[in-house]
Amino acid sequence: MARTKIVATIGPGSAHPETIRRMLAAGMTVARVNFSHGDHATHTKTVAMLREVAKSENKTLAILGDLQGPKIRLGTVKAGGMMLSLGDEIVLTPHPGQPAMIHLPHPDLIAAVQPGSRMVIGDGEVEFAVAEKRGDTLRCIVTVAGLLESRKGVNAPGTDLPISCMTDKDRVDLNLISELDFDYVALSFVRTAYDIQELRTLMEDCPRQIPIIAKIEKVEAIENLIAIRDAADGMMVARGDLGIELPPQELPLLQKRIIAACNEVGKPVITATQMLQSMIEHPRPTRAEASDVANAILDGTDAVMLSGETATGKYPVEAVLMMKQIGEITEHAFPYDQWRDRRLTPHAIGSVTEAISGASCSIAEEVGAAAIVSATLSGWTAQQIARFRPRSPVLAVSPDAHTQRRLALVWGVDTLLVPAFQDTDTMLDKTIQAVRDSGLEPGQRVVITGGVPFGKSGQTNLIKVHTV
Ligand code: PEP
Repeated sequence: MARTKIVATIGPGSAHPETIRRMLAAGMTVARVNFSHGDHATHTKTVAMLREVAKSENKTLAILGDLQGPKIRLGTVKAGGMMLSLGDEIVLTPHPGQPAMIHLPHPDLIAAVQPGSRMVIGDGEVEFAVAEKRGDTLRCIVTVAGLLESRKGVNAPGTDLPISCMTDKDRVDLNLISELDFDYVALSFVRTAYDIQELRTLMEDCPRQIPIIAKIEKVEAIENLIAIRDAADGMMVARGDLGIELPPQELPLLQKRIIAACNEVGKPVITATQMLQSMIEHPRPTRAEASDVANAILDGTDAVMLSGETATGKYPVEAVLMMKQIGEITEHAFPYDQWRDRRLTPHAIGSVTEAISGASCSIAEEVGAAAIVSATLSGWTAQQIARFRPRSPVLAVSPDAHTQRRLALVWGVDTLLVPAFQDTDTMLDKTIQAVRDSGLEPGQRVVITGGVPFGKSGQTNLIKVHTV
């Protein structure tokens, strides 16, 4: 079993019970529901189906709801699109139906860009430079020639849009995400820690605070990376939009920076977009794609993500399996020793939980433990143990099914759900019983961490070496 987790986007190519069953068997641990597509009725049916199949297969599956955010799109262009040549002059207008003008139904963006601003259409098929503002229209010069089509995405790299990254649609979608009790919510186009705070405040009215994954896809997010990381519960390297906002040649190092920022504090990080893109159409990935997945794992990502490959592709099960196999092979060469050195560096440890987590990794090595077992309420201690990337398997034992599912995104953590426990003796008894049930052999040692008194999150203060 790979230790790197796999996020698969669910869509028409995969939203069938038998395909989901096979994707779970192949190694999917998190299902992503993308609110940029589909309606509430479809999402509701998909979530019910995912839960039912995971239950019948006895698998832990987290569900992540990905909010669309203020994605900017062109209006309607004439049927078949408009072929634009280098140097052509075009005019963008916020008003529909203007002859000889192109409809961009976003007056905020038109107001925010300045002469000289770049505007990138789609994945970079077409590009404009803003030449002049004329009232509420923009005169632009085509700098990358190509076919301009209706509803294509528009990015204006470097332009600061004074709008919330939660749209009205996102607020309505958030209600459904809360109602359906999703395990994670991903926030698109985050720029500052304030965006995360705004979403948290909105969730104050919801029955449960859902952990937030900040999608890093804007230049401003890179500038505010550490504050965003501290405010969020995890991050996503959203390479699709990030690679439009910034030159693609800058992406590899940014990916490493974002992953390292999360690793530093033990928050999960997902590497996303075009990882096995060619598998949308083909049963095998390109060599470059296989290397891309392996390199993200070596960078320290918690999870790798599939988008179109599983949402609309022809080979959703094969794509998940390919990721798992790349994980299994690459993890043999994972630089565990370098990560051990990290936990010994000054300032690596800042709390009792971190000290216990780091020490449990050292003790596990020293006594040749078959596993590190964390009795955890919120899952935070298991995250901190995983942060140090121990060679020993990590098993989180929790009475909370939400915790169990959330840890499906965290590198290297397997989980067991146990009945609730109140006192230390019961906690140890239940944990030891769970360890026995997990198939460990008599005579094998395990390192157990827990908190006394149990029942309060953030209380980890105990290590025990137990012989099964
Ligand atoms: C991305 O831009 O890489 C991404 C994951 O976001 P989305 O697919 O929602 O545009």
